[in-house]
Amino acid sequence: MIFEPTYRVKRVWGISPKALQSRGITTVLADLDNTLVAWNRPEGDRDFFDWHAKLQQAKINLIVVSNNSTARVKRAVTALGVPFESWSWKPLPRGIKKTLRDFDLTKDEVIMVGDQITTDIIASNLAGVRSVLVQPLTQTDGLPTRINRQIAKIITGHKEIHWEDDLIDPK
Ligand SMILES: [Mg+2]
Repeated sequence: MIFEPTYRVKRVWGISPKALQSRGITTVLADLDNTLVAWNRPEGDRDFFDWHAKLQQAKINLIVVSNNSTARVKRAVTALGVPFESWSWKPLPRGIKKTLRDFDLTKDEVIMVGDQITTDIIASNLAGVRSVLVQPLTQTDGLPTRINRQIAKIITGHKEIHWEDDLIDPK
């Protein structure tokens, strides 16, 4: 289903290198705002840097795939030290597909992580890559995001969502 993520995990830094490696994932594609950084802490979180260091040790790459402008994404990722694709037009799959081409990756070796069903998860499903829905780092942000959340609530039918700490395959 187009709105359905492959996995649901509380925080991006809960995703362990081991869980990624055992699923054949070499590269994590990640949304920026509210997934990797909170809007009110644009310099990044300590948890992020610890997690990124663990990925690097395990030789797993991280690429930011954001709908934001190049200037905005560049500003944010300079502090984080990760490559990026900007203007990715999620929920369209083109940004993810362009990332696969630009970084010479196959669909099967990546996973897309994001906090929005209406952009990140739909784009992943349309691009044919596995996805992880995470809880947004902050609840208070711009109007478009709040509208997206309302749409997401309608899509999920207000169901109680169970969030895991790491990638867990459904039984
Ligand atoms: Mg986001």
